[in-house]
Order: sequence, then C-alpha cells, then structure tokens
Amino acid sequence: MDEILPIAQITHYHAHIYFDGPEQRARAEAVRTAIAERFSVQLGRWHDKLVGPHARPMYQVAFTPDVFPRFVPWLMLNRQGLAVLVHPETGNDRRDHLIHATWLGEILPIMHPELLSEVKEDEAHEVVVPNTSPSLTP
Ligand code: ZN
Repeated sequence: MDEILPIAQITHYHAHIYFDGPEQRARAEAVRTAIAERFSVQLGRWHDKLVGPHARPMYQVAFTPDVFPRFVPWLMLNRQGLAVLVHPETGNDRRDHLIHATWLGEILPIMHPELLSEVKEDEAHEVVVPNTSPSLTP
C-alpha cells in the first residue's frame, strides 16, 4: 500500500474546464459565467491553445478547500457535457495530475507528464485570491 497522506497537504484545488471547438467553447463560457455568479473562486484566463499537461483548450478555476463541498457537486450537475479535471494542489504536480486527480465526464490524457515537477517551486504564486463576486446561490 502507498503512503497515507493527510488531507492537510491540500492547499487548494484546480478545476480545468476543457472545450473542443466553437460550440463547446460557447458552453464553457456559459459555465464560466454561472461559476462567477455563484462561487468565490479565482478564474484563470482562457487557454485557446494547448498549454502544460492539458490535452485540450481550457480555463482553470482555482478554489480553496472550503469551497469544494458545494462547487464540485455543482459542477457535476452543470458542466454542460464538458470534460472537467479536478485535482488537488499538494506541491507534487506530477502526482496531483496523474494519481490524485478526479474527472467529470470524459477522461483526457495528461500530456508530457515527465515535465510535471514533484516538488513545490514557488509557494507565493500558489495562493488563491478569488476574483469573482458571487450574486446568486448555488
Ligand atoms: Zn491545475
């Protein structure tokens, strides 16, 4: 059995919302707006070109552990058919994407896993600062 890891290692989470083509991008825009209206999260910029280990265009949503119990179930119900990767941030990028991750909908490959670091590089830029102002309840 692998080492038992305490959940206190999780500083925050990412949800990556993937899209493929203009029709899915429009759905991703609608999901993004609905998220911003309902959750205090940090919405990342659009990546219309492939970036990092991600096999499709996407944007990232960063959120703190207290948001998880409402946000992830909401995504289960409202992802509009899009593939979503939810992964913790423990400081080990490789494990967080390959082993600790969970997927909603289609499971996509993780690209170039050998480039993912196994140690935390810059703790300062890992802090989640919400940039949304929710006006609706989930
Ligand atoms: Zn991520």
